[in-house]
Amino acid sequence: MVLKKVIRLLIIGGLIFNISLSLLSASSKSESVRVINVRVAVDEEFRQHQDWRSLIRSLFNKVNQLYTADFGLSFKVKSYAFWMSDDTNQNIFGLLNDLRKKVSYLGHDLVIGFTGEKKRPFHLLGGANYLRNYIVLRWNPSENLMKLTLTHELAHLFGAVDLNEPESIMNQGQPGTKFDPFSAKVIALNRERTFLPSFFPLPPNKIDEAINIYTQRKLKKKKETDLNIMIAVLALEKEDYPRVIQECEEALAVELKLPEAYNLKGIAYRRTNRPARAIEEYKKVLLFQPRMPEVHYNLGLAYWHLGEAEKAILEYQKAIELDPRYAKAYANLGYVFLKKNRADEAILCCQKALELFPDLAKAQSTLAAAYLLRDDLSQAKIHCEQALQLDPSLPEAYSTRGSIHLRQGKIELALKDYNQAINLDPAYSEAWFNRGRAYLLANNFTQAISDLCQATQLTPQDHRYWGTLAAAYLKAEDFDQAIDSSLKAVELNDTYPVALLNLASAYLRKGEGQKAWEWLEKVPLDSDHLAEIHLLRGSLFRQQGQWLKAKDEWSKALEVDPHNGEALLNLANLYLEQGQLSPARNYYQRLIALGVHQAVAYNNLAYIYYRQEEFDQAWQCLLKAEELGLQVHPEFKKQLALRRKKK
Ligand SMILES: [Zn+2]
Repeated sequence: MVLKKVIRLLIIGGLIFNISLSLLSASSKSESVRVINVRVAVDEEFRQHQDWRSLIRSLFNKVNQLYTADFGLSFKVKSYAFWMSDDTNQNIFGLLNDLRKKVSYLGHDLVIGFTGEKKRPFHLLGGANYLRNYIVLRWNPSENLMKLTLTHELAHLFGAVDLNEPESIMNQGQPGTKFDPFSAKVIALNRERTFLPSFFPLPPNKIDEAINIYTQRKLKKKKETDLNIMIAVLALEKEDYPRVIQECEEALAVELKLPEAYNLKGIAYRRTNRPARAIEEYKKVLLFQPRMPEVHYNLGLAYWHLGEAEKAILEYQKAIELDPRYAKAYANLGYVFLKKNRADEAILCCQKALELFPDLAKAQSTLAAAYLLRDDLSQAKIHCEQALQLDPSLPEAYSTRGSIHLRQGKIELALKDYNQAINLDPAYSEAWFNRGRAYLLANNFTQAISDLCQATQLTPQDHRYWGTLAAAYLKAEDFDQAIDSSLKAVELNDTYPVALLNLASAYLRKGEGQKAWEWLEKVPLDSDHLAEIHLLRGSLFRQQGQWLKAKDEWSKALEVDPHNGEALLNLANLYLEQGQLSPARNYYQRLIALGVHQAVAYNNLAYIYYRQEEFDQAWQCLLKAEELGLQVHPEFKKQLALRRKKK
């Protein structure tokens, strides 16, 4: 019905059409008022003012009249909280951080803190930040001024910025009495903004429009640095880092005391691989706002990027101390712990992150990897699946699931997940590393070397990548390359047992015993690789013809690891060579029971039985060796068949 009417009016004439359109839009606005749930926090000083409750009620009534009429927005006080404000805080931003630390937003869209802290000269009446759902408002004897300030601060949450516009509520310093058209446009654009922390307020499809509105306003050249900051915030979300830096520098040329400009510049530097410069910028922010949790979080990221894990841990802990509900800081701290092989701490941090923010997919995937590190495959699997449910394009979760498959010996499934991780993020070095390991286990050395080279190119500072690449070269019998890669690993970590052992192995295989000994002596004896150390020592002694010492070392390897197939095989072969048939037989039988090197063991057992003139037994063993794919010596087989017949 309504539609028909409009069309007819449109035909009749422009004037009538205009009137009916404005009537239509007015009625649709009143139909859908967006209600914002507010938690009000009141500090002890504010409570000293008589009738503070009725003052707050009256303020919201007045503010809502304006916001409902102009924007279809209404602020509803859902709950009150007591706020023990920190009296040592100097300025409004310090109070804002204090409020965030002490009063939770959970169950609300935003928190508004009312403080009675004395205002010192040049201090602001209120404070707010577009990206965070907290506002602080200072008590003032003029209720009208408080109303205008609250209106002003709320507008900041909807993208409005401080202007040089005396009539406007958004005027910096003393607010005017109504919204200017520019601010009204910005607020309308942000009307549906989200207040979920960890999400950007605007959806991606509105970001360009917002940038345009602010850029237009800049043409007025009123030195409104907030415009630059807002454009930088939006450009950051678009990953347009040169623009972020350009806007921040433009703002800083007007005004040096802009902590947010340094912070945004720092983020842009870090994301463009300049972590050291990022840290310089963040430290400038801390000069103005030492208790800003986000800055410590950003410092944590930058230090991690620089490879300084301990400093990263301290910064994340500081961020959490300042904001105990900082889910992302918990998640990132968990990630650093994971990478330092501190699985228990990683698990605790991720659990805390998920308790605060259950949809944090990265916390789920870090949790999965931490359980994998603790060999708890079933928990690891559960959290991988949860991570992928939250974010099906999370490369970390695929990579971890691949590693779970790999641990279970399901190489094909592992490869499938690693492929997926690499497709999603070709710069994700850990996935290349993991896929390289899988190919290595599958004895596909060419592919393993290619993947591991890729991993070392993407992240040259990870010693594990070089160590595993060396292992792949060793398997492919390219000893010089194995030495090269191991040396790079040792350069990064001079006590890395895998690299030192690989160096020793490579020199042993090249017949350079002296160098092999030198590297072997550098392996820390308290490492998890004791069996391998003894194994290599035994091989070196054997190369020198010191058979007793070789036996001794291989026996020690077996003491450390009774299932060590290499030690069993070496011992069996050595006894066989020396003609000590019964101990040799014993070791081959242990190999068969263990399921390692079975074909060789059966073949050599056949020879032992032959020597002991147990020809039927020998024949059975030889057939087994053949069954397992070994090419037995044809002359020996012929001879054995002959002897069986004779008997
Ligand atoms: Zn302002």
